Amino acid sequence: MKVELPFYRSICAVRVDNNYHVKVSLESGNYIHNHRFDSLQDTVKLADKILEIGEIDLKYWKPEDSKDIIHHKFLICKEKRQTKAHFWDGLNTLCTMWNTGGLGRAKGYHLYNTNLGREICWMCTKNSQQD
Ligand SMILES: [Zn+2]
Repeated sequence: MKVELPFYRSICAVRVDNNYHVKVSLESGNYIHNHRFDSLQDTVKLADKILEIGEIDLKYWKPEDSKDIIHHKFLICKEKRQTKAHFWDGLNTLCTMWNTGGLGRAKGYHLYNTNLGREICWMCTKNSQQD
């Protein structure tokens, strides 16, 4: 069954355990794409491609398991201790450094529920206060 995508904010890249998936929110509920990625980059790429097409085929998606709700809010490179935590909006950081390449191709960055004690990017903080 093909379903038209409602709007930009309805699609995001999320972390489920140690993998990444594309998630969409439709009127009928939330769905997780069957394809499991190791990297957040590839997941965002798929999400972008889906956005371009503008519709999804539900046979490649499964309903989100409500006991497995995903809230990964912070993007952090754990290995680089000096880097800051960024707010993740689903497809980009709030400071937009993810898309502009400011995070050095975003290699090694993963999503976490907490800021892991890191200082939070001031531009992300500023942009989060504008909503
Ligand atoms: Zn940031």
